[in-house]
Amino acid sequence: MNHEEYPLNVATPRSFTYVTRDIPRVTAAQRERALKATHYNEFAFPAGMLTVDMLSDSGTTAMTDVQWSAMFLGDESYGRNKGYYVLLDALRDCFERGNDQKHVIDLVRTNCKDIDRMMDELYLCEYEGGLFNGGAAQMERPNTFILPQGRAAEAVLFELVRKILGQRHPGKVFTIPSNGHFDTTEGNIKQMGSIPRNLYNKELLWEVPEGGTYEKNPFKGNMDTEKLEELIVKLGPENVPLVYTTITNNTVCGQPVSLANLRESSRIAHKYGIPFMLDAARWAENAYFIKVNEEGCADKSIAEIAKEMFACCDGFTASLKKDGHANMGGILAFRDRGLFWKNFSDFNEDGTVKNDVGIQLKVKQISCYGNDSYGGMSGRDIMALAAGLYECQNFDYLDQRVKQCEYLAQGFYKAGVKGVVLPAGGHGVYINMDEFFDNKRAPESFAGQGFSIELIRRYGIRTAELGNYSMEYDLKTPEQKAEVCNVVRFAINRSQLTQEHMDYVIAAVKALYEDRESIPNVRIVKGHDLPMRHFHAFLETYPNE
Ligand SMILES: *Cc1c(COP(=O)(O)O)cnc(C)c1O
Repeated sequence: MNHEEYPLNVATPRSFTYVTRDIPRVTAAQRERALKATHYNEFAFPAGMLTVDMLSDSGTTAMTDVQWSAMFLGDESYGRNKGYYVLLDALRDCFERGNDQKHVIDLVRTNCKDIDRMMDELYLCEYEGGLFNGGAAQMERPNTFILPQGRAAEAVLFELVRKILGQRHPGKVFTIPSNGHFDTTEGNIKQMGSIPRNLYNKELLWEVPEGGTYEKNPFKGNMDTEKLEELIVKLGPENVPLVYTTITNNTVCGQPVSLANLRESSRIAHKYGIPFMLDAARWAENAYFIKVNEEGCADKSIAEIAKEMFACCDGFTASLKKDGHANMGGILAFRDRGLFWKNFSDFNEDGTVKNDVGIQLKVKQISCYGNDSYGGMSGRDIMALAAGLYECQNFDYLDQRVKQCEYLAQGFYKAGVKGVVLPAGGHGVYINMDEFFDNKRAPESFAGQGFSIELIRRYGIRTAELGNYSMEYDLKTPEQKAEVCNVVRFAINRSQLTQEHMDYVIAAVKALYEDRESIPNVRIVKGHDLPMRHFHAFLETYPNE
């Protein structure tokens, strides 16, 4: 973003800070004591002892003043709080209306007292046929479920899918392919007794061209659609209940998925009568990459691109703690009377509905998270989320965010660190640990986790290993093993970190890279086979011989 009239070759600042938080001074010896006391499990390491926390960008966003002020408008009523209407309509605005948005949030912001207007524009609007029914249609055919976070949406969805498929085909095992399932998505799928498959194109990932800029394929998160069709034909479409695409592809280095690829995956799924679902945690960052890199999209707004992305799907789950959203939120939605609804509802002979999948989902939502008006969220969080949905459509915000990731990635690359994935993803930077360690460490040595632990111990920087350890390489079948991407992720919290933080992280990783021989390996001493073990396993480090 530059002033067009008098161009400069630096970015124009787009925000400034009113609230700051001090970072404590902590010694390596103090961190070592804490690491030992928490069994080297990074998730259990006290955040208050870190210098830069890059474990996750989930719910860690620094909210804007507009979001903080929206929280004051939060309505904590038990039934149909104002925020419920505002949130559902913000979702319609963002995912279905393109540039033709209604912004009913402004009625609440301006304290509209015209009750007829509030009824006509907010409380009693009827919507059907899309992803977010409204009014009586949402009561008759519920298709939108507010939940506290993404994995809650996944758990509600996959548990019901398992129940329905289990009743129809007892004992049968199903496969759910994706361009790259997130760890909790894999965990939820496995717990429902199905098999997750990750069909991204692995070769594309490792190839870093001369000079560190990637021109050949900016959409490295794409589904390998040939593999997808092969798999469906091999297993038989009746054994593939859903096809998933994650945007952006978090476990595959936060890389984006092109519109063309979304359309092709959707076409293949539909050819075999399979619903096409999105895991849409970072829809805005994905739309940014489409705008910047996909042919014919440069002149479209983020909202227009989002409309085209969501037009491909029969339903989606999303963590709304990512992108520029808010600190809390999740959603599950499916197209009214669409393929998901048809495949998972039961019908009478005369075509009338016997068992509506939306009503069954709502039963689960109510029994776990409260009624559909709030789904486990406070009214204040709902308002902050609705405001955040509008803010993450802002191109300048997204541009700055993606460029901050790229700054960190280029910093590693220029410092000579091997294995950096370029260009960076939309929410963080990933280092391929196989390359980092010159392919010298065995997969079961979990050296990537050793790297993460050592980065905490020496420099107080916490990252997330999303490779052989967290993705359970040692527990996978040979074909699944080939689908593990052995990476460590440096997630960047939104609007929170400055260039100073990035420079500190670059210097630390450079120093650790140069001393990589001394990075320990890791063994799991407890919780080896637990679901999503990286959240609870006890670890030990041992020197690399
Ligand atoms: C974070 C994330 C989830 C899980 O969402 P939570 O809100 O953390 O529960 C699911 N899928 C993807 C792609 C994610 O990044």
